[in-house]
Amino acid sequence: MKTLVLTGIREIEMIDSPEPILKNPDDVLIRIKTVGVCGSDIHYFTEGKIGSQVVKFPFTVGHECSGIVEKTGSAVTRVKPGDLVAVDPSIHCGTCDQCLAGRPHTCRNNRFLGCPGQIDGCLTEYIVMPEFTCFALSPKFDATTAALIEPLTIGTYSVELAQTDFRNKTVGIFGAGPIGLSVLMVLKTMDPAKILCFEPLEYRRKKASDLGASSVFNPIETSPAKVTQETEPLLLDVVFDCSGEQQAIDEAVRIIKPGGKLILVGIPPEGKYTINMDILRRNEISIHNVRRQNHCVERAILLVENGLPIDQMVTHHFSPEVTQQAFEMVSGYQDGVIKAMINFS
Ligand SMILES: [Zn+2]
Ligand SMILES: [Zn+2]
Repeated sequence: MKTLVLTGIREIEMIDSPEPILKNPDDVLIRIKTVGVCGSDIHYFTEGKIGSQVVKFPFTVGHECSGIVEKTGSAVTRVKPGDLVAVDPSIHCGTCDQCLAGRPHTCRNNRFLGCPGQIDGCLTEYIVMPEFTCFALSPKFDATTAALIEPLTIGTYSVELAQTDFRNKTVGIFGAGPIGLSVLMVLKTMDPAKILCFEPLEYRRKKASDLGASSVFNPIETSPAKVTQETEPLLLDVVFDCSGEQQAIDEAVRIIKPGGKLILVGIPPEGKYTINMDILRRNEISIHNVRRQNHCVERAILLVENGLPIDQMVTHHFSPEVTQQAFEMVSGYQDGVIKAMINFS
């Protein structure tokens, strides 16, 4: 089968590799249909690592996928051959303290698709996953919307972690990439009074506007603190950082009202932020970190069933043969790219 491997920094090759086989009774063989290119894949492509997670070449990345069930192990009941499935890329052990505490996403023995040192990613024709990671979808879904369930779960979970009744609340979002837009789309279903979005790229601001942001600003040209004080003098209830930029964190703490919340969704490239503790303490702002998602796949599927236009973020489709080109485009923010998808069949 065709498999894409990272062979070095900014080098992707297509190789022929053996098809995986079912080993356990709860295994599912999935023929991959579509894979979304994620910011984390791009970090592995351009830097060979994210923080302490370092790629040993050659390695296959990719974790946002949809596919068709080809074959199932003897104990599988959730899905059947022919089903279109969204795949949760996270395999938890089910027995550690975290799993037993209802936190499979911080499982001590977690293995994640396309995560270095864990399991090979889904940029390939077939993968085998345990049935609990497979979610059969209704005919409302196509392969693209199915592959977008994974990034949508991050947005869904981030909003849930804020533990806020968003009706009549004011919200800020830094970064209108796929995750920022996912957060925006989920928030839109919860009737906040206003969503202010800060994003340096014009075409992404336009997309955020189209998807319902109340106002969009270029944080390079317009000071987020100034513009928020002018338009929302009491400041914002909750701010989501989906950029991972130090500058965004500096601005974010200045536009959150006393008692408000900062939700950290973006990943800082250096693995560190400095935070103005004076503002944070005086205003008693809480910070919440987001680790991928927990128990949000079904909710994300339901949101799409109910009309959430997740496919609006897709700007480009590629065949597997030109995956290198797709990664170059996403890493360079070329051609108005927001979400790029690789289609296997
Ligand atoms: Zn991702
Ligand atoms: Zn566990």
